[in-house]
Amino acid sequence: NSELQLELRLMAYGSDQVLFLARDVSKIKRLEEMRRDFVANVSHELKTPLTVVRGYVEMILTTEHALEPHWQKAFTTIETQVSRMDRLVEQLLVLSRVENHAEEENKQLVDMPKLIKTLVDDATWLNQEKQHKITADLSDDLWIEGIDTELKSACVNLISNAIAYTPAHGSVHIVWQRSGNKAKFSVKDNGPGIRPEHVNRITERFFRVDKSRSRDTGGSGLGLSIVKHVLHHHSAELAIESQWGKGSEFIIYFEALNKK
Ligand code: ADP
Repeated sequence: NSELQLELRLMAYGSDQVLFLARDVSKIKRLEEMRRDFVANVSHELKTPLTVVRGYVEMILTTEHALEPHWQKAFTTIETQVSRMDRLVEQLLVLSRVENHAEEENKQLVDMPKLIKTLVDDATWLNQEKQHKITADLSDDLWIEGIDTELKSACVNLISNAIAYTPAHGSVHIVWQRSGNKAKFSVKDNGPGIRPEHVNRITERFFRVDKSRSRDTGGSGLGLSIVKHVLHHHSAELAIESQWGKGSEFIIYFEALNKK
């Protein structure tokens, strides 16, 4: 039966015996697939109505007739909330894409210094009002094999988290360098840091340390689960070094490859 999926386990049992366990996980896997398809379909269907609502609200807000203050406030609130929902749906779509492994076949040599440089420039441009000091130290000839859209998602999420959670006038330092036989991507900030008891949980889907503060930053709680899935596809590892009250560093270790 090609549908049958077994989970096999071999365990020591006493000093001279072993226990062999075979568990049928076909149903669990099928349910998991249905959940993923459901999330992907719902997110996809939500995209169009959201775009329409957003378009009309923007049209109302930019009309040449001045709105009465209470209408102005109401439509501005709708615009903020619709934009939040739009970002959440966008993140859900990215997550289901990386969960479904749709782009597994498309691995190629990726010019990481160029990709990261563009992200750093965009982040600097888009976040001028926070007046962060955003710096980067990128090794020009260090390329890796991977799926460029996914690598971009992972790097964007770490950079935008550092910028979002670090209060104004903070510093964010991005590194792309060789480290031993690995390629290291790191984003270090001097923001609030993460308590040790939360560090292991923050890559879970929808986990946010401080829900109300995260809401203010426009977060969805999905960014780091996207990072986790991308890293899984690239046999890469994530290390989180954080000191509560001092700042955080998110480091990804990839298999290194020099530019060909
Ligand atoms: P979100 O969309 O909420 O940012 P993430 O999955 O990207 O979702 O992050 C999960 C949580 O981890 C965040 O809500 C935040 O509490 C915490 N976090 C992530 N990055 C940082 C950081 N650089 N500094 C402090 N906290 C962070």
